[in-house]
Amino acid sequence: MYRKFTAEKLFDGYRFLPENSVLITDSRGTVADVVPMLDAGDDVQQVSGMLCPGFINSHCHLELSHLKNKIPEGGGLTEFVINVVGERGSELEQIADAMEKAEQEMINSGIVAVGDICNTTHSIEIKKKSRLYYHNFIETMGFPEPVASQRFDAALETYHAFREISPNVSIVPHAPYSVSVALMQKIAQFSANRLVTIHSQESEEENAFVKDKSGPLLKLYQKLGIDISFFQPTGKRSLDYIMPHLQKGLQYILVHNVITNQSDLDALIEHFGEQSNELYCCLCPHANQYISGVLPDVELLVQNSMNIVLGTDSLASNHQLSIFAELQMLQKNFPTIELTEMLRWATINGAKALQIDHLFGSFEKGKQPGVLQINGDMINVLV
Ligand SMILES: [Zn+2]
Repeated sequence: MYRKFTAEKLFDGYRFLPENSVLITDSRGTVADVVPMLDAGDDVQQVSGMLCPGFINSHCHLELSHLKNKIPEGGGLTEFVINVVGERGSELEQIADAMEKAEQEMINSGIVAVGDICNTTHSIEIKKKSRLYYHNFIETMGFPEPVASQRFDAALETYHAFREISPNVSIVPHAPYSVSVALMQKIAQFSANRLVTIHSQESEEENAFVKDKSGPLLKLYQKLGIDISFFQPTGKRSLDYIMPHLQKGLQYILVHNVITNQSDLDALIEHFGEQSNELYCCLCPHANQYISGVLPDVELLVQNSMNIVLGTDSLASNHQLSIFAELQMLQKNFPTIELTEMLRWATINGAKALQIDHLFGSFEKGKQPGVLQINGDMINVLV
């Protein structure tokens, strides 16, 4: 039993197809073909608006869903991190309920796959029975060098717990200001990693800390009671500082890129050389607006042909988990960037970033990418 769809516009993950194109899937949504109306036969369902493959959320923290509306907006990165650390603990039942609701919200808004940061095993049960695809990024942090082994071993334990439910698991560093070189090296040497992500250049607070050992992030360590007297200012921007520990041959998703400038991009492209195509920049504009009120220079990333993908970040810093909402926000703030390009970020680029483009991200034969109808502000999951 085939299903056939057509609409005023049909975006296939790469481009808008000629008018009167028809998407044909089997009953489970596996793409059989895309053909002109003349060849499609009977029973073509005409929907209003646009057809688009399911969205990829390249950066989320499902386990923080219970922090929705708990953290005040606009306090900046340091205040945000302090609040997350302080508020994370909650009844497990409450955490599980919030995750379930958040996941349903993702499904309803057309998300089919998620790159999800995990600091705990809290999300294992929900992921076991989930219809969403997850790549689980087991995140580790620890700024003093002596804790590197212990922190890595703890991450390894979480890694193995997730490996029991899925092969799609990596161990990843949190951010340049929260991970020691020793811990970065342990992660770089972890041979099971194929895909790594890191929060990068989220705010000027990060640069001030790494470069000059100054700024609000000092307060974070004071608050946590962690002695960082060993740390010497590096004189480098945060991306420059971590770059030697980004291994060539691995695929990376750099998340946020709010303060990324041309010199950062030049250095990145030089470091990765021909492998720059395995580097992805993830934008989470609603989270940036929530935390610091500053958005990344998206035009600069586009001019430099960076591979862009989109993420929601968590409900601790977003009012919804919707890639569609992130797209709408980007369109409003960066009207010169073409819709086709932005839709690619949400679909095929995201699928490539999570190494699942053989399954998701475009209407190509054999894939089961999900089928969305978008009509103005409305989104409807058809398959
Ligand atoms: Zn994040």
